[in-house]
Amino acid sequence: MIMINNLTRKGEGGNREAGDEANRLEALESLGILDTPREPAYDRIVRLVRASFDCDMALISVLDAHRQWYKAIEGADMDEVPVQDTFCRRTINMEGPLVVEDAAQHPNFKNNPYVTAENGVRFYAGIPLKTKNGFSVGTLCAVDSEPRVLREGDLQLLEDLATIVVEQMELREQAMTDDLTGALSRRAFRSEGSRLAALASRHRHPLPVICFDLDHFKAINDTFGHSAGDEVLRTISQTVQKRMRRSDVFARLGGEEFAVLLPETERRGGVEVAEALRRDISALRFDFGGKSVNVTASFGLASFDGQINDLDTLLQRADAALYQSKKDGRNRITAWGDGDVSVKIARRRVLKGGKISFRNGGSTIDCTVRTLGQQGAGLDMIATTDVPNEFRLLIKADGLDAKCEVTSRTRTHLEVEFV
Ligand code: GH3
Ligand code: MG
Ligand code: MG
Repeated sequence: MIMINNLTRKGEGGNREAGDEANRLEALESLGILDTPREPAYDRIVRLVRASFDCDMALISVLDAHRQWYKAIEGADMDEVPVQDTFCRRTINMEGPLVVEDAAQHPNFKNNPYVTAENGVRFYAGIPLKTKNGFSVGTLCAVDSEPRVLREGDLQLLEDLATIVVEQMELREQAMTDDLTGALSRRAFRSEGSRLAALASRHRHPLPVICFDLDHFKAINDTFGHSAGDEVLRTISQTVQKRMRRSDVFARLGGEEFAVLLPETERRGGVEVAEALRRDISALRFDFGGKSVNVTASFGLASFDGQINDLDTLLQRADAALYQSKKDGRNRITAWGDGDVSVKIARRRVLKGGKISFRNGGSTIDCTVRTLGQQGAGLDMIATTDVPNEFRLLIKADGLDAKCEVTSRTRTHLEVEFV
């Protein structure tokens, strides 16, 4: 059972902070940058920072609710660390830069685990990456294991480069087409989709949307490298485009997620198109290092039913159906409204801060909530090893406190049902 408790009412400050963090995570979500592959434009900037500061490490960090993830990093080889105690976590709460010339002497940092560690941090200079709406999504920073004094102009350089990083992220978000696949971007899809949704609603025409997400795509990247992954994305996009009519709209919504809108097509026709796409994709053969590889995708479909007429609800339903296809074993199609795929099981994709609490609140673990519905949630965390099968999930910004039972678990992800 879900209870709204007084978690957020301990004081005005707590409430506002939770709200700010929720808005910050929303801004981060809309940039669509999290967990995207390395890109030369960002790599160049961290190389520049490292060279001009002559420091051990330079990085572009992006912070969700439980981890600090690196869009680019020079001088170390890692993808993410827990967000707890990091310098970047402090930086994103600041208006301007955070500069610590000698952390071992600094009252706020001398006991920090990153400082007391062997070869730990002594020098840190970080600039918050602020979007044009004023939300800090991460940092650009220079880090060294020796204390240093900033030279004239150092900070200005770092600030200028931080501005370039944010501009790059925002430009990408504003683009109308996707460079890799030539498909429409998420933004273009929303704008074209809203127009078609309004038309369909006015003229009472059907308008199905198909969403699909490649199955176990991470394994392709991990086994054959990113360029193999890119080739898969390009080829699949071409395959889909061959099936499209002129009036259909095809877009890449994110990493390996796509959507198709089929104006003036009945729901049944939409299911047939989805089935054809599923077959086309699974029939493709890729040759990677002499190995023949095939890829599948999971599909979700939703269509206007006379009650809804907005694109957001349509997409949420298609997404919930897609999620069900994944749950049922992948490489299949689920249509909203078939069986019990309805409001009851629907999950929204979200990016929210959560806390896992067990041993009567004696132990807590930070997590990022990635899907959320009336009956359950999907949670990312640094490691699931210590999490028991039953716990409470707290989402401060929503005032949610739910008793959970784990239904599936990987190293970093839990699927739970509320009980
Ligand atoms: P699932 O079946 O549950 O969808 O598993 P999955 O492995 O497909 O899902 P997950 O979301 O864990 O992984 C998606 C991967 O897609 C992770 C990310 O590195 C990769 N990716 C995203 N964008 C790109 C891209 O532009 N190029 C390449 N090569 N990989 C990308
Ligand atoms: Mg996938
Ligand atoms: Mg995906």
